[in-house]
Amino acid sequence: MSTQQLPVVVIGAGPAGLAAATHLVERGIEPLVLEAGSRAGAAVREWSHVRLFSTWGEVVDPAAEKLLAPTGWTRPDPATYPSGGDWAEQYLQPLADSLGDRVRTGATVTGVSRAGRDRIVDADREQQPFVVHVEYADGREERVLARAVIDASGTWTTPSPAGGSGLPALGEKAAADRITYRVPDLKDPAVRARYAGKRTAVIGSGASGFTALAYLAELAKSEDGKGTHAVWVLRRGISGSTFGGGEADQLPARGALGLAAKAAVDDGYADAVTGFRTEAFERDGDGRLVLVGEDGRRLEPVDEAIVLTGFRPDLSFLSEIRLGLDERLQAPVELAPLIDPNQHSCGTVYPHGHRELSHPEQGIYLVGMKSYGRAPTFLAMTGYEQVRSVVAAIAGDLDSADRVELTLPETGVCGGAGLFDTPDTQQTDGGGCCAAPEPQLVELVAPTAVGTAAEEAPAGGCCGS
Ligand SMILES: Cc1cc2nc3c(=O)[nH]c(=O)nc-3n(C[C@H](O)[C@H](O)[C@H](O)COP(=O)(O)OP(=O)(O)OC[C@H]3O[C@@H](n4cnc5c(N)ncnc54)[C@H](O)[C@@H]3O)c2cc1C
Repeated sequence: MSTQQLPVVVIGAGPAGLAAATHLVERGIEPLVLEAGSRAGAAVREWSHVRLFSTWGEVVDPAAEKLLAPTGWTRPDPATYPSGGDWAEQYLQPLADSLGDRVRTGATVTGVSRAGRDRIVDADREQQPFVVHVEYADGREERVLARAVIDASGTWTTPSPAGGSGLPALGEKAAADRITYRVPDLKDPAVRARYAGKRTAVIGSGASGFTALAYLAELAKSEDGKGTHAVWVLRRGISGSTFGGGEADQLPARGALGLAAKAAVDDGYADAVTGFRTEAFERDGDGRLVLVGEDGRRLEPVDEAIVLTGFRPDLSFLSEIRLGLDERLQAPVELAPLIDPNQHSCGTVYPHGHRELSHPEQGIYLVGMKSYGRAPTFLAMTGYEQVRSVVAAIAGDLDSADRVELTLPETGVCGGAGLFDTPDTQQTDGGGCCAAPEPQLVELVAPTAVGTAAEEAPAGGCCGS
């Protein structure tokens, strides 16, 4: 069988993986989707209780909608906001069902390589098919040959630790009984009891951190949650951008998350501890957690800690593949500069596709949440455009592959992350480039325009650089 007749293996049946499979089917290329979980959308299901800040209209892939239409599927009201559970049950599962046995669940990819060629060997490497090692839930193993590989395995399984240096803090592993790396589901009575009336540290300042603070404040306001209090641990100082873009965010529900977090602090349900890099978790006499900072500060004991410091990609099963990844973000080198939080927080990302997602190893692509590596601000609609372009490239349709189009809603805050322990000045002075103009929806053009934008923008300025 020639390599061209082999399937394209898609790792992960999440939003990006299922969209990739849909585009492959549309182009008459056989996909084989391997999903470690027992059902499609396994990662999304683990945050079933969290409401998305994107509407249905922004998280349904157009090609998937076409594939689903003949099955009698109707898209929920595009202006409403699904929860993770809705997204999995009402879209991802029906989509996986419509792909049939092209989707295998309980199938964990444990390795990807070139058949008969380890990472070193050049000899007619590109002519060899990929070999994908799979371990099934029943313990069986299999080698699957593939003409190309699309890794859409996300980053959900590899959350970042609490340690201020990117490493687990001392004692963090030993304190696992009192630490979670997920937004808690306070509707679950057992989980609610764990946090009700307790003092909880929330470490992290992204959308998930905001969500956890808002949830704990709601609990504190409730009858059975009296005395609930959060300690919000931030590596940076508090500034205009700390709570996100608020009303300036073109995803109002995303902006509202930051405002809810701000209200939790303003209303006294949470204290913010700034410039704190967790170095160690110690225990007091009652077994409660004491967070110790790199600067020697010791916080008052807490009962629980919620660590929401982002995610990072699992590259362990790609060790035999020649990837081109940025040293900071562990994202493809061409994409990294467009999403680097040291430079950007606007949420605007120039349209990118197969070229930015390519590696020295031809025929393998990291897409979806995983393509962003450690960078935040990934949106599902970015993943949908990525896989449309990647599949067009695999099909040899470079015209379509290169015609990347994407208009992303801006966050309303700009400029880079800056130095960790100094609030980014331009925000607080109220002047700054971001506070001024009402953000306009940016009509994004092909990369060539990037140069000019950067030149025009003031140093350290908005969006352009
Ligand atoms: C709490 C939360 C809220 C979010 N809200 C929004 C929002 O409102 N709007 C928005 O646009 N984006 C949002 N995102 C970001 C993003 O769109 C989602 O994370 C989305 O699920 C990413 O899709 P994905 O397919 O790239 O990865 P995932 O959904 O993580 O899917 C990857 C799949 O791969 C499987 N897998 C992992 N490893 C392997 C392996 N070795 N072998 C086989 N299978 C494997 C996993 O089980 C999983 O099912 C949110 C993310 C989180 C965490």
